[in-house]
Amino acid sequence: MNFNISVLCNTCESQTNCRLGMSNREIQPLRFRCKCGVPIDITMTLDFENTNVDIQVSGAKRIEMDAFEAGVNFVDLHLDFPVSFGKYVMGSTPFMQASMRVGYEAMQIHKMRVNHLNDVCSSEKEIRDILTLYSNNNSGIFKVKVMKFLGSKMACDTQLDQNRALYHAIERSFFPFAEPKRNMDAVNLFTEKLMKLEINNKNALHAFFEEIVTNGFLKNVQTDCLEIYPRIIDIELMLRPALFLDFDHEYEGNQVPYRVSAHEFVDAKDLYKDISEIINRALVLVAGLNNIKKRGSHDLFPEGKHVPSSLNKFADCPFGKKLDYIDESWYSIDSEAIDNQLRNSVAHYKTKYNEVSQEIIYFPQQEGMKQEHPKNMYFLDFSRRILLSFRELHRLNHLTKCLFVYYYLRVLGEEGTPVDI
Ligand SMILES: [Zn+2]
Repeated sequence: MNFNISVLCNTCESQTNCRLGMSNREIQPLRFRCKCGVPIDITMTLDFENTNVDIQVSGAKRIEMDAFEAGVNFVDLHLDFPVSFGKYVMGSTPFMQASMRVGYEAMQIHKMRVNHLNDVCSSEKEIRDILTLYSNNNSGIFKVKVMKFLGSKMACDTQLDQNRALYHAIERSFFPFAEPKRNMDAVNLFTEKLMKLEINNKNALHAFFEEIVTNGFLKNVQTDCLEIYPRIIDIELMLRPALFLDFDHEYEGNQVPYRVSAHEFVDAKDLYKDISEIINRALVLVAGLNNIKKRGSHDLFPEGKHVPSSLNKFADCPFGKKLDYIDESWYSIDSEAIDNQLRNSVAHYKTKYNEVSQEIIYFPQQEGMKQEHPKNMYFLDFSRRILLSFRELHRLNHLTKCLFVYYYLRVLGEEGTPVDI
């Protein structure tokens, strides 16, 4: 269902016609920028029977109109899909355009995922509490909260059990963002590698655990990962169109200026920077295991100039350098998940954002005071990058999970409790 409304900007008094596409969410906050750059917010609220919709506008006032006339500024707005800029065409709604691009089955999966996001949002506080309690080692309250959330009576007393319960809760909450097959493959790979290393390099592997557990590094990386999840819920509206692109293969590589109808660049750039930084730190774990496999010690890197003398020194290397020192890595980072040029530009305030066109211009090169070699992308591309980098972080978080499982089982000798007890 769609609603056509017309608004007059409070600042410049220009008129914009808006076609509002309905999502399945009770409250639907939409935003666009007027031609003059000022934000105009439109909030649609469904009543409890989902039969009536209340539409509130701020930054502009609603005016009566009979039909959309050509020549008047026009915007399509929809929370769940990328929407194109351009002229109003009756019937060519974002929903219809999306259906034509990806087909019925993909539309159903997308619908199921965004429906689930509504549930995630309503459980946001519970999820946040579970993650915080686990990170702070509040095991008593963690157990109560996580069991309630999971609706489960599975064993949750040992560290091993609690680790399992935590990741059950994460999987349940974040499956709309995840790629289940790829996660499963990653977990199988992590487990298999650890088993092989135990057979061939047990002492070296245990020395590695001794270091990363004693100095708190493994726990810190896990805690950093856990802190990202609530921030993903905060921007889930922004990620809905990015999730749709999983199915829209025509879009890949085409920088089409689609609009995202909620949130803006400023809301998400720190998150992108922080996810990149955590992936960068998690690479220390990948490198340590690689070194054990290749040279029998987590501290031994391949020979060469400026090669770090230990894993501890490696931790301080910048991201680009880190990848150079992991020779023929057993685990490959998704190349789309990390764009070092974009990360550096965002981290060093070398970006410009046009709120009206949603174009991001960034300057990745070091060129002194000049800014002559820009690159550009649209906000939708950027939100897609956040989604892909979050997926990589999620996989690396599973590496921390598997490392802890190994540590509890094989180093500390904890007993695992079967799930069905
Ligand atoms: Zn205006």
